[in-house]
Amino acid sequence: MSDSSASASHARILYGLVLGAVVGSLVNAFTIGETGTPAVWVGWLVRNITQPIGDVFLRMLFMTVVPLVFASLAVGVAQLGDLSQLGRMGAKTFAYFILTMACAVVIGLVLVNVVEPGKGLPAETVAGLRAQFETPATANKAKPAEFGIQTFVDIIPKNPLEAATTNPPNMLGIIFFALLIGIGVTRLSGQMHMVALSGLAALGELMVFIIGLAMKLAPIGVFCLIFNTTSQFGFGLLVTLGQYVAVVLVGLALQMFVVLPILVRFLGGMNPWQFFSKTRAVMATAFGTSSSNATLPTSIRTAEQELGVPAPIAGFVLPLGATMNMNGTALFEGVTAVFLAQVMGVDLTLGQQFIVVVLCVLTAVGAAGVPGGSIPLLAMVLASVGVAPESIFIILGVDRILDMCRTTLNVMGDLTAAVYITRTERMPEEPDHPLSEPGEPTEA
Ligand code: ASP
Repeated sequence: MSDSSASASHARILYGLVLGAVVGSLVNAFTIGETGTPAVWVGWLVRNITQPIGDVFLRMLFMTVVPLVFASLAVGVAQLGDLSQLGRMGAKTFAYFILTMACAVVIGLVLVNVVEPGKGLPAETVAGLRAQFETPATANKAKPAEFGIQTFVDIIPKNPLEAATTNPPNMLGIIFFALLIGIGVTRLSGQMHMVALSGLAALGELMVFIIGLAMKLAPIGVFCLIFNTTSQFGFGLLVTLGQYVAVVLVGLALQMFVVLPILVRFLGGMNPWQFFSKTRAVMATAFGTSSSNATLPTSIRTAEQELGVPAPIAGFVLPLGATMNMNGTALFEGVTAVFLAQVMGVDLTLGQQFIVVVLCVLTAVGAAGVPGGSIPLLAMVLASVGVAPESIFIILGVDRILDMCRTTLNVMGDLTAAVYITRTERMPEEPDHPLSEPGEPTEA
């Protein structure tokens, strides 16, 4: 894609996003009835027009995710060839993921402990929220996920096809299988090696073709998705839970606009302004879809074409990141756990808050990169520190909006990891990093 057509398509996605939010909020403001629900025709419009269009866009992206993750990871590993490089890169990537997520949770916990948004919520507000959101469906959604040794055993799929077809797909299982296939391809010799490698690469290219089609729908798809949320919930709910929402958003903003630029500058050797300006399409897609998985195709393309990340590194770091590296989710979980403890009158000691940090990082690794993917895991965090998991209903109404913001940070965190790994693992045949500062060393 040429530079001008790429930025025109970014601009169209952003217009779709802003227009959808404005139109949806206006429709909500002008049609909201006394019961707090919008007019009947708004429901009809959402169910029959905007929801289906949004779904078509999401499905076009989702259908590529499993084959894309499998192919890009296997090709990435196979092209790295040398297993010691793979091990070194894997360890570095994983350490970067864990440290940045821990930093995000700590930022969130400091803010939520200083502001204490859960202490001032009037009892009638909590009762009102309970009436509005506590349904069998939400209670079910809030069921804590099991976490134990089996969680780790489950990473190894019994059947890779089954891992690919559950909903949401078992991404850790697919990643495990793809890593083994990639390593296996390096062991094949001669023609077999070439056939396997080009077959996997072709599969990846075919997915990129489908993603190209899906992205043509992106402006209207993103418009519809955001319209669905704002027309039904408006901004009213944000006001009720205003302080809590503000704490999450300020925390996400600090990680996104202070921590990540520092990492991009000092670990990635890249100018943060350029980094953000080249990744606008990724941010708009993540914000509009609330899904790291759905954004993966756009982030791989952007990393390779705009940030100069070599294909094997993008193919290795980004699929892992979409599943494991969730800065925004970790921060959101930490703030929410402490906020709900405050609302429910549970005092968390420093030791318990440390457990919250560890659990938030671990559960963010395990959360599915789909809208609301972290909710069942958040229920588990709550249960482990003595807060009733059902209390999640309090924040479910605002979750979609927070999800859009935390997913954006999740995906941007993945891109910073790709930039960092690129700087330290230069592929011999790759040209210099196009966005490197002049005179920057390329080897850290
Ligand atoms: N929606 C998030 C993502 O896809 C996961 C979550 O926090 O619910 O990255």
